[in-house]
Amino acid sequence: MSISNDIRNMLDIQDKNIYISENAVTYGQHKGKDCKFIKAKLTYEVNECPNCQAEKVGASIYKNGTQLSRITIPTMGVYPTYLLLKKQRFMCKHCDTSFTAQTNISYTEYKYYGLFGQRLESSVVQEILDYSGELRVNYDLYQDLLEAIDEKDYHALENALSKQCPTDASTYLRTSMKTLRKHLPYTKNSFQYTYNNSRIEGINNKIKVLNRVAYGYRNFNHYKNRIRIHFKLKPLVKTPNTSDKNKSHSRAA
Ligand SMILES: [Zn+2]
Repeated sequence: MSISNDIRNMLDIQDKNIYISENAVTYGQHKGKDCKFIKAKLTYEVNECPNCQAEKVGASIYKNGTQLSRITIPTMGVYPTYLLLKKQRFMCKHCDTSFTAQTNISYTEYKYYGLFGQRLESSVVQEILDYSGELRVNYDLYQDLLEAIDEKDYHALENALSKQCPTDASTYLRTSMKTLRKHLPYTKNSFQYTYNNSRIEGINNKIKVLNRVAYGYRNFNHYKNRIRIHFKLKPLVKTPNTSDKNKSHSRAA
């Protein structure tokens, strides 16, 4: 059990339902390369079927084999390392379906960074911030604003904006905050209501793209008709207007 705990701590596995047995580390090959495997098992008792929500009565939900997953984990030592996780399978008698034990273990957030090695993104950010106090001040301030806006939290935004700007804050951030302060009442409205102009902006963008992929239209009426077709509207009735021809070039945007 203690070895299991040690390995679990080493791999940053928080899930107590993952068990690592003795002699769990083996060497083998994967995709023609030497590598290291760590064997583990994920199992726990279930009280409720996730499919039909029926409670377990007696042996109404029973263990039914395992499913093997190979999870790439940060390389420790020389060889690429994989966690061979046997996930418990369950069968529910109520609804006659089977399901697999769930865990939130994921190492996909570990990426390889040329300068920093195999790390979590947040740890790379923290290291960069450690190099410069000025950067940290700006980063924290920016994150406060971002979080407030993401969560539509008006009071948090108001707080972040009303605080005295740190002397290290960059001029760009100061300008942005000034603008945000100016538009604060409208921002508040946007937090409260679902109205926005995204649909109209989408239409504008479609028209601009249409114009660009055609490298502009010589005849503005054709351009208008093309837009109407694109939005599944009936084209305007063709009006022979020779004077307009070649006059209205649409190369704007
Ligand atoms: Zn069920």
